[in-house]
Amino acid sequence: MPVDLLIKNGRVVDPSQNIDRITNIAIADGKISALDAPAATEAAQTLDATGQLVCPGLIDLHAHVSRDLVSLAVDPDEAGITAGCTAVSDAGSVGYLHLHPFRKYAIEPAKTDVFVFLNISPFGEVVLPETGFDILDEAEFLRVIDTNRDVVRGIKLRAIAELIYAVKVDVVKMAVRIAHKAGLPLMVHLGMGFNEPVPADEIDAFITRMLGMLEKGDILTHAFTDKPGGVFRLDGSPLPGLESALGRGVYLDAAPGRGHINFNLARAALQRGFAPQAFGTDVVKLPEQQPHFYNVAAVASKFMALGLSLGDAIRAASCNPAKMLGEQDQRGSLRPGLAADISILGYHEGEFLLHDGRAGNLIPASVFLSPQITIKNGEIIPVRESHRRHVPTRSMMEALLQK
Ligand SMILES: [Zn+2]
Repeated sequence: MPVDLLIKNGRVVDPSQNIDRITNIAIADGKISALDAPAATEAAQTLDATGQLVCPGLIDLHAHVSRDLVSLAVDPDEAGITAGCTAVSDAGSVGYLHLHPFRKYAIEPAKTDVFVFLNISPFGEVVLPETGFDILDEAEFLRVIDTNRDVVRGIKLRAIAELIYAVKVDVVKMAVRIAHKAGLPLMVHLGMGFNEPVPADEIDAFITRMLGMLEKGDILTHAFTDKPGGVFRLDGSPLPGLESALGRGVYLDAAPGRGHINFNLARAALQRGFAPQAFGTDVVKLPEQQPHFYNVAAVASKFMALGLSLGDAIRAASCNPAKMLGEQDQRGSLRPGLAADISILGYHEGEFLLHDGRAGNLIPASVFLSPQITIKNGEIIPVRESHRRHVPTRSMMEALLQK
């Protein structure tokens, strides 16, 4: 019996099975049917992946994909299949009051698999800074989670300065309580404004207290921010409470976006052994002009330039986020029998320049990964031009920065 699709001669990198070798993958009925399939396998369609990486479908752990329910969010397929990811998780764009329209309007029409961290605010990021904590109906919140467990995989909290003096409701405590009652992880956004009228030591004390409340499986996102309210100092040293939180099994998600990383801080933290376990992008509007910020392969490239190995980078781009979403038996691997969710990446070697955005640092890189083709349930989906073609050579980046 011929298979539906044979991906030939790619460099298959699947850290979940300790695989890094040039081989062939056969796909039938939307599933991976064989690894190391013979080159002569009869196939309805063949894809030549010579010189490219063939990886388990990448997962963007921190995206904003509620379409225009929230002003900055994009369409799930814009962050997902056409940007090289087979699954994305929305990081708190909506709260429990808007999950229903989010499902109907954005999640259900999408080809990309979408998971959700519900914002602890009932209104999510429809209103910023978040509001509505005093009208939050905890029983209703838990009921919404329970009836939507197929998509809801966590709670999102932004650890912002407003919460330090929130006297009516202890929002951090409430978020931890609801997440853990529901048996779901809490994802905490790190980073406040640079000019918060709050003394630095009070911000640090707030973060340390928050870290003390996190449990195994909880996630710190924007882990390498240099803003007040981060968990690392500029020299990469951890704030009190971070090491014990990580020791309990709390994860670091990079989610650099355009404003949530400082390469100097990140490199120093990595040198001290604090590596990210996931590469959310924090994708928001304008991804066409910013392809180097808003796809997981580009974020992985940045962390390879900062010192991660290719294997660890693919692990953080796919295998780990699958586990963090409770999806390790469904995705994040090329095991035969799983859905054929596969990302094919260009592997470029040369002289590249990578930019961290607001912090204004440029670093050299010798390898860059560009998303090329997404395979979703066995279907071939080309990555869109802006992402496929973007390779930040030195001259291209210099021209881009002059604009
Ligand atoms: Zn975000």
